[in-house]
Amino acid sequence: MSKSFCVFCKIVEGQIPATILYETPTTLAFKDVNPKAPHHILVIPKHHLSSLIELTGDHESLMADLFSSARQVAVDQGLHTTGFRTVVNTGRDAGQEVNHVHVHLLAGRPLKWPPG
Ligand code: 5GP
Ligand code: ZN
Repeated sequence: MSKSFCVFCKIVEGQIPATILYETPTTLAFKDVNPKAPHHILVIPKHHLSSLIELTGDHESLMADLFSSARQVAVDQGLHTTGFRTVVNTGRDAGQEVNHVHVHLLAGRPLKWPPG
């Protein structure tokens, strides 16, 4: 999927509204529109990458930023006290629906493991 049709790129560009919780020059964290847990936050790189498969060595610092932002938004929201799960779905069998790399941050209830 190209950048111009990507829903998360549209959120980055302000063309689609979202509840933004945290932002850095390279990343954005916002509430998932269809939450699967009491707290369900998506953390994305502002740069469009369709999945982890597209990652190269050039993206190392971007991925560090992404997980740093996931950590920071979790702490800001107080989720570190009870714990949280971070998930990155890649491809069909993982149920990836949006082809822009994103980290799901889930918290607020005991989370089953392994997932279905
Ligand atoms: P995936 O299945 O690709 O790992 O997860 C995509 C997530 O994006 C889903 O949890 C879905 O609810 C969320 N999502 C899809 N479209 C939008 C949107 O327009 N706004 C927000 N905030 N979340 C979205
Ligand atoms: Zn995108």
